[in-house]
Amino acid sequence: MKNLEIKTRAYALKNALVHEGKAMQGPVISSLFNEGLKKDEVRKYAKQIAQIIFEVNSLSVEEQEKEFEKLEKEVSERPAREGLEELPNARKGKVVMRFAPSASGPFHVGHALTAYLSFLYVKKYGGKFYVRIEDTNPENVYSKAYNMIKNESDWLFDKKAKIMIQSDRIELYYKYAEKLIRKKAAYVCTCSKEQFREFVKNKKNCPCRKLDVRENNKRWKKMLDNYGFGEGEAVLRFKSSMKNKNPAMRDFPLARINLHKHTRQGNKYRVWPLMNLAVAVDDIEMKMTHVIRAKDHRDNAERQKKIYKVLNKKFPWTAFLGRIHFKDMELSTTKMREAIEKREYKGWDDKRLPTIASLRKQGYKPQAFWKFAEQIGLSENDKVMAREEFFRLLDNFNK
Ligand SMILES: [Zn+2]
Repeated sequence: MKNLEIKTRAYALKNALVHEGKAMQGPVISSLFNEGLKKDEVRKYAKQIAQIIFEVNSLSVEEQEKEFEKLEKEVSERPAREGLEELPNARKGKVVMRFAPSASGPFHVGHALTAYLSFLYVKKYGGKFYVRIEDTNPENVYSKAYNMIKNESDWLFDKKAKIMIQSDRIELYYKYAEKLIRKKAAYVCTCSKEQFREFVKNKKNCPCRKLDVRENNKRWKKMLDNYGFGEGEAVLRFKSSMKNKNPAMRDFPLARINLHKHTRQGNKYRVWPLMNLAVAVDDIEMKMTHVIRAKDHRDNAERQKKIYKVLNKKFPWTAFLGRIHFKDMELSTTKMREAIEKREYKGWDDKRLPTIASLRKQGYKPQAFWKFAEQIGLSENDKVMAREEFFRLLDNFNK
């Protein structure tokens, strides 16, 4: 790296001045990364960097201030973190990540900000980025969402996202369900919802839990059979433990019968995988290496980890994101849809809606969203933001 010595000195001084005269090596080195220092050069220069920091730290604060005045121009005006922080275990060209919107509506700003974090990491290291439309709940599918998500993905991710639709992969989820039954990690439970809730509450096993593989296979076939179990009469459960400290982990469901007609698949399927089965299967099949998800999916991540473990697969590195609460901006696509249907809005691209369709029409560029996402970074802290503040920032990034 060019000017290593002078840059190190400048950043050490800058850091010292915000830490009562004592610079710390970590932040200085990360500033040097932003200046172009390569990861594999750190060892080579470590001694030299430590020596400079030592020298700076032995100056008085007055001397540091004086010297920093002269070197200030070496410190770029950019914030300390330019771009995204590094992902652990990210191999060049091999990072596989995804964004998984539900098919209940098109993209809004919240989607764009979360999705961009994964997309930008794939862009940074090289690899694959999937947009996976989750539509295995036939009751929560909005038929227009498919095309809208596809169009908006092309626009946001410069046509580099591979689009996948979960309801096209139902047979695959069945295959995995059967595999889990064979491995004695899943069973078909015919207890009523109320009964099972009692079992969960009292940490008791339901009688179905001890059925053998043969009986479970029989019951599974009966779930799939049009003349077999009816809706709500049977559910496939993961055999985790009924004594887990967290009640949400106790033999959670993997698949259920839902006879509601599916927008895309019609009445072709009666058994639908639930989120944790579908997500685990897809992440395994697509060889996901890193996953960034909302903080409220922590329990789900834990459930999926259990499925991975039974199947002897390595669970992807996972980061959890805090939520952005928009104080005066409605982000529920269901509510927006209702309002559109009541003609309170002209359509999804109505100027007053925080949808991607609307912002795109108003002239925002994809870069505005990715810069915004980059600024948020991988933070677990929740943020509260007013609509006005959000748009001020977005307008700024749009320039
Ligand atoms: Zn049962």
